[in-house]
Amino acid sequence: MIETEIDKLIMKWQNKLHLSDWKIYYKFVNFKRADNYPQKGDIEVKAQAKTVTILLKKDQPDIENTIVHELVHLILWDLDHYAEKQLSKNQKDKYFELLESTVANLTKALNTR
Ligand SMILES: [Zn+2]
Repeated sequence: MIETEIDKLIMKWQNKLHLSDWKIYYKFVNFKRADNYPQKGDIEVKAQAKTVTILLKKDQPDIENTIVHELVHLILWDLDHYAEKQLSKNQKDKYFELLESTVANLTKALNTR
């Protein structure tokens, strides 16, 4: 997928999700995870500056779905950030599992296909 198409997808979903107060960038990365999970995306948030960079694995079959997934994470960012600070270390695995399933369900409900 060429880069202007990714810009278009980001613009489309930035509008739909009412995120126009954010500056949204993206860059391609190679994720290297210790657990070998095949990660496709992530976000780097600068909340004060209202700037987010979506990190994307290059060459993935449904990059629009990944973009929306990461923007749903952005919508939940304040809540996520707050909750994470309250949790003890042994509560975090369950928390992340619930967060990811919530984000996946909301992304599915937004029907990217
Ligand atoms: Zn996620």
